[in-house]
Amino acid sequence: MSLEIENIRVSYGATRALDGVSLKLEPGEMFFLLGPSGCGKSTLLRSVAGFIENFEGDIRIDGRSLKGVPPHKRDFGMVFQNYALFPHLSVHGNVAFGLEARNVPASECSTRVAEALHMVGLSGYGERRPGELSGGQQQRVALARALVIRPRVLLLDEPLSNLDAKLRWEMREEIRRIHRQTKITALYVTHDQKEALSLADRMAILKSGKVEALGQPRTLYHHPPTRFSADFLGDVNAVNGTVSADGSNVVTALGTFALHATSLPPGVERGREATLFCRPESVVVFDSETRPSDAGYVTLNADARICSAAFLGESTLYEMELPGGVKWRALRHERDGELLTEGSRVKVAVSPRAWAVVALS
Ligand code: ADP
Repeated sequence: MSLEIENIRVSYGATRALDGVSLKLEPGEMFFLLGPSGCGKSTLLRSVAGFIENFEGDIRIDGRSLKGVPPHKRDFGMVFQNYALFPHLSVHGNVAFGLEARNVPASECSTRVAEALHMVGLSGYGERRPGELSGGQQQRVALARALVIRPRVLLLDEPLSNLDAKLRWEMREEIRRIHRQTKITALYVTHDQKEALSLADRMAILKSGKVEALGQPRTLYHHPPTRFSADFLGDVNAVNGTVSADGSNVVTALGTFALHATSLPPGVERGREATLFCRPESVVVFDSETRPSDAGYVTLNADARICSAAFLGESTLYEMELPGGVKWRALRHERDGELLTEGSRVKVAVSPRAWAVVALS
């Protein structure tokens, strides 16, 4: 099913929560709404679900407007952050709830509940109560309950936020597998950029009720259209410079660096100032004895001083200061050499394809 959101505006009193959002989800797509707290993600999801009636614009499913269709008639599956299971019902009872409400015959109901529990890896848990399950298992029940009705669209609102890091990773993989299997059009809200980057077919970053950026995870991460979206998706090492007349490189105080994107983002013009940036994983730092072997890395024409080193397990994140007090970060894999000590002077090189440009902010 395709889901079209057309020019939606929602206000709570004087607060404008959504300010003209348009999006189109293709059938079977896993689409993410991403953005900081208060940007309007939940309001958009709740509008699609039918919980908010007072809005301008339209929401259509396969071309048909959902105006006036109450939430329970939309045939959407919903998964919330807090699971929202019925504590007095068994797992089976929770998953069967939507089917019973739709008067599905008991025998078919049992088969479908068993299938849904199997899909989320909870076969054999039907008689337990939610209180006897871990957080991850409860969220699996919530997922089974949403899927069992064979929804036209699956809506997920921060479904992994209550889980610890390891479980979150497991459930992410689980959601990916189930989505591949069911091919349900899904709209997924999160503030966690890693969750979105790792699961999304496409995503929209919202800012103050508007779509700030829209695209596939890799493209947005490497070539975000704005500084806000660049910052939201990861760490940014920035330097201002002038875009060359042919738009192929940027001249900065740290050197001249080639751009590889096919087009310049909004607000960036040839011959004008712009912000050039790269991500910490594209930066190598080295002392004079251990030059990086990475072919083609371009060394900055300024040294840096290591300010701090944060050991992250598989890598170390270095923060360093460049001339003029500019702070940059470099992520160095543990296998790539000895620890660089705080205060030491280092050279800095950047992968040649790592640069992207955004308008000055
Ligand atoms: P997000 O899900 O991205 O955190 P929300 O959609 O919850 O954002 O909120 C968007 C804006 O609308 C925020 O400024 C928030 O304070 C406001 N808002 C959300 N719900 C209500 C409400 N029920 N009443 C008044 N203001 C609200």
